[in-house]
Amino acid sequence: MPTVLVRPTSSDPTRGRVVVTGGAGFLGSHLCTELLDRGAEVVCLDSFLTGSPANVAHLMDRRGFRLVRCDVTDFVHVPGPVDLVLHFASPASPVDYLQLPIETLKVGSIGTGHALGLAKEKGARFVLASTSEVYGDPQVHPQTEDYWGHVNPVGPRGVYDEAKRYGEALTTAYRTTHGVDTAIVRIFNTYGPRMRPHDGRAIPTFIRQALAGEPLTVAGDGSQTRSVCYVDDLVRGILGLAACGHPGPMNIGNPTELTVRQIAEDVIAATGSRAGITFVDRPVDDPEVRRPDTTLAARELGWSPDVPWADGLDRTVRWFAQAASVSA
Ligand code: NAD
Repeated sequence: MPTVLVRPTSSDPTRGRVVVTGGAGFLGSHLCTELLDRGAEVVCLDSFLTGSPANVAHLMDRRGFRLVRCDVTDFVHVPGPVDLVLHFASPASPVDYLQLPIETLKVGSIGTGHALGLAKEKGARFVLASTSEVYGDPQVHPQTEDYWGHVNPVGPRGVYDEAKRYGEALTTAYRTTHGVDTAIVRIFNTYGPRMRPHDGRAIPTFIRQALAGEPLTVAGDGSQTRSVCYVDDLVRGILGLAACGHPGPMNIGNPTELTVRQIAEDVIAATGSRAGITFVDRPVDDPEVRRPDTTLAARELGWSPDVPWADGLDRTVRWFAQAASVSA
């Protein structure tokens, strides 16, 4: 029998008291910033496994912001009321999760259990940061939420893909068994300021290489496609889902499809680099195509991405150039 929900302290949970796990990471730090701008109180929980206090340094003096060092696989304890739990803690880039396979599986399983337990205890809404990787190397294109995916559980990417698939199942079980008000967002490739130059994802890698005057390393022949969403658009979609009560799963991502080679060429143009492109081997199980079907987000949230690729790329390149000049 589902337990009765404790009534949240705010009718729009994105303006109430919000716990963001993984809040000192790339996406988490943008979520914390936008939540504070909306008047929310934010408790940011992070172990700094792949994130850093530097990502939220600009928030430390903001009213209502609290940063707590905490590994969510150990426990999650937050005193006081909570209206919303955004569970974003997890290594996310292939370089990170291949180096941290056990940590990735643990945060997706045990960590998700602890974050769900917090939402249950507080009667809070819960949003799981899932991923387009649950679709694996998809045989349906573009990917709709009712596609079950094509994942190799024992391939190198399995640690991430299966952790997220398990997290989705656990989230669903807390909804059906305990009556927790849950949502699942399937995030597609996102880019923007505060990505790490060495995190291994294509856009920061290309920008770092271009700014250093090194050739851009394109995997395979670069004809594989990615759909990339600027972080501000993603944050708006996630908080729209958090506020609306829909359970998901819901794709949030930019449906404009680019080849990896096109992304590299655009980075070269945006940075004015003369270093050119070099082709390297494709990683194992690298998806051939990726594009979200965002019909559900458009219908339920009225959401669509606003930031054109050229603008988002320009903003990201400027941030990387400035960060590089500060650290030089
Ligand atoms: P990130 O690595 O920048 O941020 C993840 C954060 O989680 C880091 O600050 C890290 O220190 C923290 N963390 C990891 N394990 C933890 C633990 N056990 N306890 C507490 N904190 C922990 O990655 P990101 O790109 O910001 O991704 C955030 C979330 O969004 C992840 O769950 C990821 O799977 C999901 N996601 C991201 C993308 C994307 O394009 N960036 C795409 C799909 C899904």
